[in-house]
Amino acid sequence: MGHSRTYRLPGINVARRLSPTHLGSGFLGKAAYRAETKENVVHGVVMYAPGDVRVEERVDPQMLEATDAIIRVSAACVCGSDLWPYRGVEQLQWPAPMGHEYAGIVEEVGAEVETIKPGQFVVGSFWASDNTCENCRVGYQSACVNRVPMGALGAQADLLRVPLADGTLVATPDVPSDDLVPSLLSASDVLGTGWFGAVAAQAGAGKTVAVVGDGAVGLLAVLAAKQLGAERIVAMSRHDSRRRLAREYGATDLVEERGDAGVAAIKELTNGLGAHCVVEAVGTQESMMQAIHATRPGGHVGFVGVAHGVAVDGMDLFWSLAHVHGGPAPVRRFLPELIDLIWNRQINPGKVFDLELPLDDAAAAYRAMDQREAIKVLLRP
Ligand SMILES: [Zn+2]
Repeated sequence: MGHSRTYRLPGINVARRLSPTHLGSGFLGKAAYRAETKENVVHGVVMYAPGDVRVEERVDPQMLEATDAIIRVSAACVCGSDLWPYRGVEQLQWPAPMGHEYAGIVEEVGAEVETIKPGQFVVGSFWASDNTCENCRVGYQSACVNRVPMGALGAQADLLRVPLADGTLVATPDVPSDDLVPSLLSASDVLGTGWFGAVAAQAGAGKTVAVVGDGAVGLLAVLAAKQLGAERIVAMSRHDSRRRLAREYGATDLVEERGDAGVAAIKELTNGLGAHCVVEAVGTQESMMQAIHATRPGGHVGFVGVAHGVAVDGMDLFWSLAHVHGGPAPVRRFLPELIDLIWNRQINPGKVFDLELPLDDAAAAYRAMDQREAIKVLLRP
């Protein structure tokens, strides 16, 4: 890549600005020393503006809290939600460190970390959470009262600081073989998010589940619906490779139409009633209305696409008689179960990664996802 140059880690700089109380003089002195000597330099992805993704040298992340861990990232990836700023739909504070999905080996833990140990292979969610507060205890770790967004720390990098390590990270039984890493990485977001979508839509035995969206989250919502025992699973996609994977993950029916025509197709498959459960995994006005209108009275919509410019009409919702639940997935709730399913090779969610690139080629990874040439790109630091 032609754009590499030395750059102070934006994530750490942001954290410094946001958390002045975390800074002891010893920390500042050590960081300054490292910056001056350019030791322990790591590579990380930084977005400068829409369409402008660079891989830069950054100063390695420092322990800020006694509850932190530092992990060496085995694999990271580009998320569909990273495409919103890439396409200029969402503004970030430029330059922004990128990446919130990660799996890797623990290098160092703070003095108050009890369960996570150096040398363990761990997976965490895109929200760091204490897993002990009232919201966490009822399974809504993405609303943890102490949550920290991992995206601000930049997981598309060699090394990553993970706050609240005991609450956030889940260790695998052993260091996994390489072929399991993509699936374990998927649990960090897309699998956990698709799973939450299916759970929020109440997918289960005897149910017909429709999934709006054929990105990684939608495809893994199909996988989740199958695991949860759904009888019939309708994937909505018009792309051959995605349709094939949806079939492999358990889709029994495929619908190509979108919008009102897509709703009509779902109704035709369900005696005019609509699906019991609909997962919305896109985040646009069309996909949200498609999901609500394709749900039968009394049915459930699980929406996990990050909503951009979506406005739901009150009368539409009123007459739908649907339950609507969604939001940022509490992935941490599902991690132990998902890691277990992956470890025992009962599911293979890692197949959503249809392109793997070195971290240094991150710009090409974003381009491939933006052009829909790849479903999801895995980045190897
Ligand atoms: Zn919490």
